[in-house]
Amino acid sequence: MLRDDLTGELVLPSDPGYRLAKQVQNTEYDAISPRAIAYCTSPDDVLACVRHAREAGIPAHVRGAGHSFNGWSTGTGLVIDLSRMNHAAADGPTVSIGAGVQSLDALDALKRHDRQIITGTFPTVGQGGFLSGGGLGWQTRKFGVASDRIVSARVVLADGRAVVASADEHPDLFWALRGGGGGNFGIVTAFELRPVDAPHLTAFETLWSFDDAADVLTAWQSWAAGESDDLGTSLVVLPGMFGPGGRPVVKVWGVHHGAAEELERALDALTDLAGVKPAHRETTATGPYADVMHEALCGSKTVQQCHRTGTGPEAVGHRHPYTRQAYRLTGRPVTRAEAESLLRAWEPDLDAEHYLLCIALGGTANRVGRTETAYVHRDARFLTGYQIATRDPEAVARGPVELDAWADRCAEALAPLATGSYINFPDSRTPPDWEADHYGENAARLRAVKRAYDPDGFFRHGRSIGS
Ligand SMILES: Cc1cc2nc3c(=O)[nH]c(=O)nc-3n(C[C@H](O)[C@H](O)[C@H](O)COP(=O)(O)OP(=O)(O)OC[C@H]3O[C@@H](n4cnc5c(N)ncnc54)[C@H](O)[C@@H]3O)c2cc1C
Repeated sequence: MLRDDLTGELVLPSDPGYRLAKQVQNTEYDAISPRAIAYCTSPDDVLACVRHAREAGIPAHVRGAGHSFNGWSTGTGLVIDLSRMNHAAADGPTVSIGAGVQSLDALDALKRHDRQIITGTFPTVGQGGFLSGGGLGWQTRKFGVASDRIVSARVVLADGRAVVASADEHPDLFWALRGGGGGNFGIVTAFELRPVDAPHLTAFETLWSFDDAADVLTAWQSWAAGESDDLGTSLVVLPGMFGPGGRPVVKVWGVHHGAAEELERALDALTDLAGVKPAHRETTATGPYADVMHEALCGSKTVQQCHRTGTGPEAVGHRHPYTRQAYRLTGRPVTRAEAESLLRAWEPDLDAEHYLLCIALGGTANRVGRTETAYVHRDARFLTGYQIATRDPEAVARGPVELDAWADRCAEALAPLATGSYINFPDSRTPPDWEADHYGENAARLRAVKRAYDPDGFFRHGRSIGS
């Protein structure tokens, strides 16, 4: 019995906690019923799960914090869950984290050590999936792709071995783990990371009328590409249901790693470039990195409250509804005509929960060679894309093809600008050339690493290497 081999917990369909245990971030995947969920608490637990799944011929689904857009961390087999392997501690010059730690918990735990790591822009994303695919956020321009800071990883392999991957040990595996995508080469149980030196940050938020959206999008991209690496920023076009007077609204927000006056100057420069003033502009007080990031990601919620609903007694963090998406990495700021075309594809008059989202990249991330790690997109300046969601159970039940069609049209609008696509923001629909899109010239080496470390394709999901 697997249960007897675990120090952690095994949840079966007959157990009272099963309905919650099988949940991931997106409600769409509640329809999937795994054979069991194993909450691992040690590398030995992970090993036991791998051996059991192999011997019983059951598919294994590696799960960190369950944010895969396409549900790659769940399925009908054994979910190997790492969420309880979630320590974060400073260890001499490096930081050690459990692969299941979520961004908000890592920020909080490392606060007392006065060290920090790079996170994305959503609080409950797991570091295992985030780092495996690359790891992008508001710290990317200042400190690089998060996985560039991995010093070593502890990995349970498909054959049941536990190894350390680093520049000196299993260097090919180490290369692949930095951007080659989660759920491919093994199960990372812990990472050792080079921390970032980011004692203070200032957060900001501006809101702009949708009438000025084309000017603001054009100006924002040119601004973000031209400002110093201290600037970390996103832009989102929100639908009428979230805008004042039922009109869509453009939000530009993020953090600045420099002096507060520098941020004020930069925001003035954005207004000058756009040629219009924001309806709202706000900067927070400058504060410690973890506190400012926590507030930016969780608002006034405590760490406990900010977790996904159902995962703790106080947790009220929201889950995502049924979603379809199309995202691309783009290599230069858009022209005004291109901004207009992106906004047309978004369909301003559509009465739906739909977004156009961009995250500014470049800076330090692009001062690394394309083949130095598996993350190839060293020419990307922006992650740009679209999401559409429905909360209507009847629509979900019938499989809303109109959402797919909308995402397809958005993918077409992005195509002329695309330099590639990021495995952690995959399109809902798998494009025929997805390996080239996600990995460029690194795809062949990734396939070779897969053959060496997982020749039978034990680790498998909708877009795993070699599938
Ligand atoms: C709302 C939202 C916001 C996001 N924001 C950002 C952002 O700002 N920046 C960014 O870069 N990304 C972002 N992402 C994408 C996110 O980084 C990826 O979805 C990531 O893979 C999630 O990791 P997870 O552990 O939470 O998810 P999971 O669904 O648990 O895992 C994702 C994939 O990684 C595999 N995996 C997980 N843990 C391990 C492990 N320890 N070893 C091996 N494989 C593993 C899984 O099998 C699966 O294939 C966001 C996603 C969502 C839904």
